[in-house]
Amino acid sequence: MLRVLRLQLLFLLCCLGIPALAEQADISHLYEQIETARQQGDMDKADQLALSYSELANQQTDLVEQGKAYYALGRNAMERNNYPEAKQQLQQAVSLFQQSDQSILLANALRQLGLTFRYQSDYSTALNYAYQAMHIYQTEQNTSAIASAYNTIGTILEKMGQYEEALQAHQNALKLHDELGNQSGIASAIYNVGDLFRVMGDNDKALSYFLQSLELDMASGDPRNIAYSHNKLGYLYSESGNFAQAGQHLNQALALFEQIHAPRDADWARTNLAKLAMEQGDYAKSQQLIDGVIGRAIEQHYKSLLVDAYKLGAELAITKGDHNAALAYIDAGVTQARQNNERADEAQLEKFRVEVLIKQDAVREALAALQRQKQLDDDIFSTKRVTTIASIQAQVDFTRQQNQIELLKKEQALQQVKTEQQKSSRNLWFLSLIAGFTLLLMLYRRHIQKRLNRLLVQQVDARTLELNQKNQELQLAYQKLETISLTDKLTGLHNRHFLESHIENDLDHCQRLYQDWRAGKTAKPENADLVVFLIDLDNFKALNDTYGHNIGDEVLKRLKHRMQQVFRQTDYLVRWGGEEFVAVARFIHREDARNLAQRFIETIQQTPFIIEGLAPLQVSCSLGYVCYPLDMNQQNSHWPTLLRLADLSLYAAKYSGRNGWVGIEDCKTQLTSANISAAQLQHWLDQNKVIVHHSFPGSLYWQQP
Ligand code: GH3
Ligand code: MG
Ligand code: MG
Repeated sequence: MLRVLRLQLLFLLCCLGIPALAEQADISHLYEQIETARQQGDMDKADQLALSYSELANQQTDLVEQGKAYYALGRNAMERNNYPEAKQQLQQAVSLFQQSDQSILLANALRQLGLTFRYQSDYSTALNYAYQAMHIYQTEQNTSAIASAYNTIGTILEKMGQYEEALQAHQNALKLHDELGNQSGIASAIYNVGDLFRVMGDNDKALSYFLQSLELDMASGDPRNIAYSHNKLGYLYSESGNFAQAGQHLNQALALFEQIHAPRDADWARTNLAKLAMEQGDYAKSQQLIDGVIGRAIEQHYKSLLVDAYKLGAELAITKGDHNAALAYIDAGVTQARQNNERADEAQLEKFRVEVLIKQDAVREALAALQRQKQLDDDIFSTKRVTTIASIQAQVDFTRQQNQIELLKKEQALQQVKTEQQKSSRNLWFLSLIAGFTLLLMLYRRHIQKRLNRLLVQQVDARTLELNQKNQELQLAYQKLETISLTDKLTGLHNRHFLESHIENDLDHCQRLYQDWRAGKTAKPENADLVVFLIDLDNFKALNDTYGHNIGDEVLKRLKHRMQQVFRQTDYLVRWGGEEFVAVARFIHREDARNLAQRFIETIQQTPFIIEGLAPLQVSCSLGYVCYPLDMNQQNSHWPTLLRLADLSLYAAKYSGRNGWVGIEDCKTQLTSANISAAQLQHWLDQNKVIVHHSFPGSLYWQQP
């Protein structure tokens, strides 16, 4: 009925030849319609109307109307979670409102602009815009707008981890909305306070707040707010194991978000549904939801949501025991969280990493991750302190300006009192009481702030101490683990510790056999030599790079069996480190060393490694060996010298073409230290003091050719 009347009026105005007036009536009506459509979640209609509005505004070349058109388009884009677009439109609106001196419209645009930065995880810029808006609202003494600005500031502070200040802001908003009787404002404030309780871990309180905000939202009928409340309730119910109710709320949230075309928010609800599915043990469904969210979040640049999804992916993978997948999610999550500057999330991801690495027995890497987590925690504390100070300063700033205005007013009042010839001294007394009270309040605030800072410092210290202790404990545990274990975890071969604690006995025994012979007590000993073989896989880095570290590990594991095929049970078989192995053939004749070296090279090279899912892998190795005693005719050399000579031989094998061996079988020179250079060795070779055998058809290179 009203619509018909309005149309008739428009028609009448047009016929009367007053098109400008007609347009004016039409355009403001249109603006209301945009807001209504948006509030009802009919975004297609809202966009259509906003475009028509923009056309009309351009025809009128009215800066204010054009600004309002940009503002409407920006708000629509926000509602659709398209923040880059929203930012662009709102910036246009800001500039037009600035030019046309529209302070309240300008402040509204600034506040919304702040929100676009908040959703894009740039919290300090967001806060800056919100305070600019607040400043204008306060100057204009627009109470309802001040209340909304408190809401906005509170949600930003919450994201920055400044919970006390956020709570203060939400309480201010609540008080003002309450005074104004603004139901949807009250609902928002209650929702925000509830969320703060959730973040601070008080789920019971949070639940009661969200139940209330849902009730209020239902009464005011804004689908987006209703969906938000459902979403939070669903999350909380799934946290408390109340799965049926959680599912109901989350599905309602999802349906509403889809209905109002808010894709990011819908994916947010799906992330909660994925968590619910995980907690109910339906891993396949959970995984499917997570994959979907991650794909869209990457495509649409929903950066904060993406971090949440990666976190959940990691959690699910850990629950499933799929450590590699967990590590992949963690890596991706850390990269994104760093980009967003969301350090609390980054720290949480590092915590997951520690968990996975400890399960994999990778103590060293776990320690490194723990250290990163500690560093992040430290950073969060210090960043938090800096931003706290910054935001308090900003608050103080506009409070100060407000005070100045009040002071000016007081001065005027004072003037008035004077000109009225100090009608009543009671007034003056009252004024000084107020001034005194203000001073007291300021002092009290400073006192509270100091106390808060002290508390913060104490907390930081306590946490640092705790983490340092944990680090030390872990380091000690690691050292202990290393020293008490004599086997290499990956291959099951003996480790360096084992060899180092056993080899000296053998060297002594061998030396005694030869001494007895030299002293004429026994015949020349037969099988009395020790041969130290140092083995290094060829181009193993390339193998890792091509097939991945896991396949590399698999090859290393199989080395044990191959070594056992060539060496005897009583020989020492050792993983020396990385892709290097040592075999000590014990009490053999040194002439047999060549044969063993050749057989070992062939054992590796001639039988490809068969690993499931891969074509047969060709691997080769190089080998350097040294025989002990170096000189049968004299007491000689110790373990480090032997190792050095084996090492030089191994290098020679590498330089001479790999997949071959080089061995030092005799060394008639007085060796006083293990510090032997390749050039020195070559010199002795030229003098025939050292006897070397090798498998290479061409010449032997002791140094890089
Ligand atoms: P070269 O023939 O000269 O020995 O070449 P290389 O690639 O084998 O030698 P390099 O020393 O450059 O690389 C050794 C590689 O061995 C690097 C490292 O990735 C890999 N590696 C060391 N320890 C492990 C391990 O425990 N597991 C796996 N998969 N790879 C390892
Ligand atoms: Mg190596
Ligand atoms: Mg190698």
